[in-house]
Amino acid sequence: MLTTPAPSYSHNYDASLMERLLFRVAKRWVAGYNTDEAIDAALDTNSHGMSAILNFLGEDTTDAKLVDMTVNEYLLLMDLMHARKVHGCVSVKPTQLGLTIDYKMCLQNFSRLAARARELGQFIWLDMESVKSTEDTIAIYLDLYKQYDKIGIAVQSYLRRSASDLLHIIECGGKVRLVKGAYHESEEHIFATNEEVNANYSKLMKMLFESNNYFAIATHNSALIEEAISMSKNTKFEFQMLKGIRDELKHGLVSKGFTVAEYIPYGSQWLPYSVRRIMERKRNLLLLARSLIQQ
Ligand SMILES: Cc1cc2nc3c(=O)[nH]c(=O)nc-3n(C[C@H](O)[C@H](O)[C@H](O)COP(=O)(O)OP(=O)(O)OC[C@H]3O[C@@H](n4cnc5c(N)ncnc54)[C@H](O)[C@@H]3O)c2cc1C
Repeated sequence: MLTTPAPSYSHNYDASLMERLLFRVAKRWVAGYNTDEAIDAALDTNSHGMSAILNFLGEDTTDAKLVDMTVNEYLLLMDLMHARKVHGCVSVKPTQLGLTIDYKMCLQNFSRLAARARELGQFIWLDMESVKSTEDTIAIYLDLYKQYDKIGIAVQSYLRRSASDLLHIIECGGKVRLVKGAYHESEEHIFATNEEVNANYSKLMKMLFESNNYFAIATHNSALIEEAISMSKNTKFEFQMLKGIRDELKHGLVSKGFTVAEYIPYGSQWLPYSVRRIMERKRNLLLLARSLIQQ
């Protein structure tokens, strides 16, 4: 039985003072620097009636050695989740498994994770990143899905292409996590206004409710969540939200009997993730400014 993991490279991070200050703000969204903190956060999430989706932070990795270490980190994490009886799964970014270096390498790395997930009976989610990698991510997903069906993929409602991608994934029987999208993209690829992104989210959500496939509604937007509830009847699906955002809403959904999962990132590469969370809401910029001034 596994107890404490061998120190992973995420333990050896020597944070500068500025980073430590920023981390104070980021701490609401990330579990911490290492695997132990991630497992503790996941167990805490479980104790509130939610399952946990753990993500080892990192993206756009161009160093093959680092990619290999990341694969090992996920394998270790999956074993630990099993050993510590965490109710949940992992969510992985294709560019942290080598997509920027080589498509085949990335697919092989995901296959290694899928093989372990199959042994442990765990689920794996593929995060969706910038539009540069959408095509490849879907191709990798559909290939993996033939090997193991407890795998899902994120689809972004801000992308104009997503309706046809979703249709294709649904036809292949795939499992989708519907999100709005968090990357800075050029105008040709995305819907320009929030209203259009929300309208497209509703449209894609209806497609998911009409399919027979399992899916996840990953948003903190109350109107969209209400819309999902009104369509839910006997459909099997789950709500997913990020750690540190709209906790009361999560608990309300759990108490109404809905399945809710919390996405919990951890690791030394917390900055790009935290910047995306800060930029999503003006109030978070104030929070950051206040935290720096109080120092
Ligand atoms: C489980 C999960 C997985 C995700 N995976 C991906 C992925 O693979 N690829 C991807 O591109 N994106 C992913 N995202 C991020 C997503 O694309 C959005 O950027 C993010 O969820 C914010 O949009 P929203 O739908 O919650 O709605 P919004 O309309 O942006 O927010 C609704 C309300 O939620 C609250 N809120 C939202 N964001 C914040 C914040 N940062 N701080 C404080 N309050 C906030 C506010 O009250 C806001 O009014 C994921 C999101 C979730 C929940």
